[in-house]
Amino acid sequence: MSQKISTPFNKPFIVGKELSYIAQAVLVESRTAGDGVFTRKCHDWLEKHLGCKKALLTHSGTAALEMAAILCDIGPGDEVIMPSFTFVSTANAFVLRGGVPVFVDIRPDTLNMDEKLIEGTITSKTKAIVPVHYAGKSCEMDEIMAVAKKHGLMVIEDAAQALLSSWKDRYLGTVGHFGCFSFHETKNIISGEGGALLVNDDRFIQRAEIIREKGTDRSRFFRGEVDKYTWQDIGSSYLPSELTAAFLFAQLEEAEKIIAKRRHIYACYLERFWPLVQAGRIQIPSISEDSTGNGHLCYILTGGLKERNALMGHLQSDGIKAIFHYVPLHSSPAGRRLCRTSGDMIVTDDISDRLLRLPLYYDMTEDDVSHVVESVYEFYRQS
Ligand SMILES: *Cc1c(COP(=O)(O)O)cnc(C)c1O
Repeated sequence: MSQKISTPFNKPFIVGKELSYIAQAVLVESRTAGDGVFTRKCHDWLEKHLGCKKALLTHSGTAALEMAAILCDIGPGDEVIMPSFTFVSTANAFVLRGGVPVFVDIRPDTLNMDEKLIEGTITSKTKAIVPVHYAGKSCEMDEIMAVAKKHGLMVIEDAAQALLSSWKDRYLGTVGHFGCFSFHETKNIISGEGGALLVNDDRFIQRAEIIREKGTDRSRFFRGEVDKYTWQDIGSSYLPSELTAAFLFAQLEEAEKIIAKRRHIYACYLERFWPLVQAGRIQIPSISEDSTGNGHLCYILTGGLKERNALMGHLQSDGIKAIFHYVPLHSSPAGRRLCRTSGDMIVTDDISDRLLRLPLYYDMTEDDVSHVVESVYEFYRQS
């Protein structure tokens, strides 16, 4: 059955100044390569708004994770503790260095890694912990930072979904040694493909700049700190062009507004679903006092795999595109070959069968939300 989609899952939002900033980069600044005026504006914005020591734009969230893996000196056999319920790049970035992702189960309330399982997973080979702030909701960072400190481990926040989300009085991405953001078209703030690495520990700033610039000290050369630049270390080309940075800067200028609107849509969903939650039919994300989200995504938890898939089909027949994720990494072909699990993955497996993500995008109206919510209610009236 092919049904016309009236409510897509995602619609990238364009704030309006993106193209004129790109024109300015090309025609006024005469710069299309990276690290020009717009890249600096983005760096300043991130450092000022988030309160971090150093922000470096990358060409993707994946690239930011790869840089973090190099900066942590991950080598063959080194273990990195992370959830299995995440996007592939969380694991892949470390596997590329020869590291071994070790998966722990997630909490049923936040769907983030269960911080209580971390310490028992640490071995003499453990080098780092990668908390993923799923849906822009914070992991339990106090416990994670404490266990990392006790065992001398690095913490890399996969904050790909978490720009402007906070944990207590701090923005996510600024708590661990490194924070990784994504500006992929599916995220809240976008540049097509794009990302940023936050370096929160001074000791790593200079090396981070070198790794990002093909292993050279070109960044210092541009600042006039050295009279030529040469090959210093391993590295790759991790910086985006000015075209990407110009586009991104237009989005960052409107970031607070975009996120406020998404939070509003998210709150509408949760409020409308409350009766269905009280009737015991679905579960919705929990609310935590310590963590402020950013309206990145709205999921519901259904009763099981069959019910989830039937609901997805029902929504589709009403013109609504809903999707699920993730296929847990521990059960994927590469994950089985390259990673290991610590303990059982009961919550991870259960959640990935029951989770359904609903449409959420900037232009969504309250009528659009109603259309989705009513279709969900209709499904549960019938079943
Ligand atoms: C989107 C995402 C990434 C990857 O970001 P890209 O910019 O697409 O490379 C990594 N981790 C998580 C949790 C993500 O959601």
